[in-house]
Amino acid sequence: MIESKCASISDICNEIHSLSKEDRAMIENAYLFADKAHEGQARYSGEPYFCHLAETAQILAQLGMPPIVITAGLLHDTVEDTTVTIDQIKEEFGDEIAFIIEGVTKLGKLKYRGVERHVESLRKFFIATSEDIRVLIVKLADKLHNMRTLKFVPKEKQKRIAMEALDIYAPLAERLGMMRLKGEMEDLAFEVVNPKKYAELDKVVREKRFISEKYLKHVHHSLSKVLAKNGFRDFHIDYRVKRIYSLFKKLQKKGKDVNVIYDLVALRVIVPTVEDCYRVLGIIHSTWKPVPGRVKDFIALPKTNGYQSLHTSIFTGDGGIVEVQIKTPEMHEHAEFGIAAHFGYKENAKTQTKQFQNQLAWLNTMKELQKSIKDPELFIQNLRGDFFTDRIFVYTPNGDIIDLPLGASPLDFAFAVHTYVGLHANGAKVNGKMTSLDAKLKTKDIVEILTSEKAKPNRKWLDMVKTTFAKKRIRSFLTEKNVQG
Ligand code: MN
Repeated sequence: MIESKCASISDICNEIHSLSKEDRAMIENAYLFADKAHEGQARYSGEPYFCHLAETAQILAQLGMPPIVITAGLLHDTVEDTTVTIDQIKEEFGDEIAFIIEGVTKLGKLKYRGVERHVESLRKFFIATSEDIRVLIVKLADKLHNMRTLKFVPKEKQKRIAMEALDIYAPLAERLGMMRLKGEMEDLAFEVVNPKKYAELDKVVREKRFISEKYLKHVHHSLSKVLAKNGFRDFHIDYRVKRIYSLFKKLQKKGKDVNVIYDLVALRVIVPTVEDCYRVLGIIHSTWKPVPGRVKDFIALPKTNGYQSLHTSIFTGDGGIVEVQIKTPEMHEHAEFGIAAHFGYKENAKTQTKQFQNQLAWLNTMKELQKSIKDPELFIQNLRGDFFTDRIFVYTPNGDIIDLPLGASPLDFAFAVHTYVGLHANGAKVNGKMTSLDAKLKTKDIVEILTSEKAKPNRKWLDMVKTTFAKKRIRSFLTEKNVQG
């Protein structure tokens, strides 16, 4: 069954605001190049593999990505899955595009096991590896399209892929402030991970939405009238329905009753300036009674991911409660696209205010990233994309990633893999070569531990390891031995 269509060159290019002849030619060239390179390959859905690339490129175009990123999106699987080499890409499309593709390919090699500690290091590794944020954005677009077509993938694989989306990709999108992409990805994944709960909440939202629609029309109409009466000409009102997964998480956090969730449906009022936002809030509060404790000023105090808006909930007078969000067009764009909005400003050639807003959002995101790794001093390094200078990331022979502190040894690695492996470590191979157990490991080393039944820890081992975890295990072994012997 072939369901999703395959985006054409115009489908992609029509999403881009102002496209130069050269850039259009580059995108066309990549489109045809990838189509040819993937010829004969098919997706689980039965459609040509190339469709995945065209669709990924279209997602990137919709995110407002510049032509170079869209081109990289078209070519992101070419090196991995066809006979085309990275040098050919360099020759045909230049170093920058090749660099992005190499980054995406590297991320694709990571394995996901769903172990909590592992999940955290995988997230960190994602950020550390994507020296360039564009690599992450291409990967997120790639993943979103894979999620959209997940139902064609064999059942036994679906859950793992969906869990990976929920654990790794959606949180990354959230950290980058890309809420629209995050929301869609989470709902697609949640439907697979917990189909029963998904159906149940979907029904709740549908029913609620049906009831609220009446209120919303009424409020929409009165609000438009009131704003016009107060001299507003340039405003836009619409509404959004809460995403299923987001509702699920809120219910988990705040108790089970859907009736106390006030933002199931929210009205959005978009006005040109910040001053307008506060004026609109005043007008709304003098027209409808606000629900106490529900007024939030995220303009003066933005959320950590840079989100800005004024929120209030009002009694609509007919027994209903509606959340209203008031923001400027720039704030709205950032709420939807986050860091991706940062790339658009050159193309859109809008005002300086917008550039400033973009930079602000970018900075906020960097701050958030920095907070998430709990080391304030790395902030400046983070801006250069040089994250986690105190950590190394090494591979098991299977390609699993182990996250260790700088200066860690193969013996640390052995204990990180499994206590048994640690306690019986007898030797190590690093990148295929025999190495001592106390050597210093580097990021990207592939480490293999040789074990023997007879091998066991001695006091010297304590000086050979850096991690507290390994030290603890060695100590407890030595103590036990003393007690016994
Ligand atoms: Mn792909």
